[in-house]
Amino acid sequence: MEKLLFELSKRGKRAVSLPKCDVEEVNPEEVIPEEYLREDIDLPEVSQLEVVRHFTRLSQLNYSVDTNFYPLGSCTMKYNPRVNETVASLEGFANIHPLQEEETVQGILEAAYLLKEYLKELGGFADVSLQPAAGAHGELTGLLLIAAYHRDRGNTQKDTVLIPDSAHGTNPASAAIAGFKVRTVKSDKNGELDWEDFKKKLDDRVAALMITNPNTLGIFERRIKDMADALHERDALLYMDGANFNALVGRMRPGDWGVDVMHFNLHKTFSTPHGGGGPGSGPVGVSERLKPYLPVPQVEFDGERYYLNWDIPKSVGKLLAFYGHVAVWVRALAYILAYGREIYRVADHAILNARYLRKKLEGLFNDPYKHVPCMHEFVLSATNLKKYGVKALDVAKRMLDFGVHPPTMYFPLIVPEALMIEPTETEEKETLDRFAEICKTIVEEAKTDPQKVKNAPYTTPVRRIKEAEANRKPILRFPK
Ligand SMILES: *Cc1c(COP(=O)(O)O)cnc(C)c1O
Repeated sequence: MEKLLFELSKRGKRAVSLPKCDVEEVNPEEVIPEEYLREDIDLPEVSQLEVVRHFTRLSQLNYSVDTNFYPLGSCTMKYNPRVNETVASLEGFANIHPLQEEETVQGILEAAYLLKEYLKELGGFADVSLQPAAGAHGELTGLLLIAAYHRDRGNTQKDTVLIPDSAHGTNPASAAIAGFKVRTVKSDKNGELDWEDFKKKLDDRVAALMITNPNTLGIFERRIKDMADALHERDALLYMDGANFNALVGRMRPGDWGVDVMHFNLHKTFSTPHGGGGPGSGPVGVSERLKPYLPVPQVEFDGERYYLNWDIPKSVGKLLAFYGHVAVWVRALAYILAYGREIYRVADHAILNARYLRKKLEGLFNDPYKHVPCMHEFVLSATNLKKYGVKALDVAKRMLDFGVHPPTMYFPLIVPEALMIEPTETEEKETLDRFAEICKTIVEEAKTDPQKVKNAPYTTPVRRIKEAEANRKPILRFPK
């Protein structure tokens, strides 16, 4: 795998002469208003050593997958193999420019083409666009494709997207940005899409159903194929949010179920560090129905050379300034090649770890879907601690004192006091056992000394913050 990527990287040459641009020389005193021009600036004087210490100390406060367990549900905070970083930083991938001639970037084009082919195969799709910058951007792309499909067929009445009440917040947001109305469909007692409610709401206005599988409860939607059939009967389409594809990869192909479009979160399923919010990559796979509308350009191969195909007459256009987040593509390709035919082990171990941990945590919290087996994650509810005055948030804060990152909280919205736990496939049994022991200790504390849990954390540099206020009124300046 390394050899192949190394070879490909050698086929990227830095352009010797980048286009020149004329920069006009300006005098700052002429263009900056007088009140902003300063003679003296009161900058603090610190020694180099103190600066190094300050930033080194700050870096040690970072929490990461590399330092500890990170069971943040839905986010798939798995280990990102170091070899990914090595190949992504090879000269011929890292030091090329999107405006170079195609002849000088054949290596990255071949890598992109290969990745596209692997994603087509793994997802069971007719084609894939690598362009979207992240999962949510993939959602928007997919919905624009759906809108283009209906426009093309004169389906002007189709203005609604059905979305289950367990969906990730980006789903309704993307549908709204793409110009659709959103109608919520209920979940049933098994945590799956409520079939009766779905059938009732599936009328001629419905352009698509947008569903996550396994859904955000970590539960497999067993009727996914029936959903596709029911939708197609009315010329409506099926969007699948592929954020949880690590539960399926190598085992099942959404295209085979009749899914018309799905985004892959390369940074989740195929590993790229994404704790700080990016960059990610959200390629979309499509069925034959949506292929004519894919964004331009598509990476193609004419038997001799790789090239960017801009000639897609019905394309929705371009969705990013350049071509996509190339370094994330390279990491994903490295990950796929490293597993090869055994990539199904990702899904097997993700599910095994989740089921093991769920069993270990039995009896500590409420498990509202106890009767349903989970896939790669599961959602518990801390309502059992309410009588002690302890909330999911308190449990999460107390976990920080034990050095673990808390699970996702208060999502999905249909589970009160939700704790959404995704151990990922890269964790060992010992880590899961340790986490279970920590949960046991915290639940015990909640019962015997609830104030201790409610006042947590004790060991972090900052204790409780006003989370909503920190978002709405951020303090961005160092106080004088
Ligand atoms: C992460 C996630 C998204 C959004 O993906 P980004 O890459 O963060 O934009 C959408 N849906 C689900 C279920 C997710 O977990």
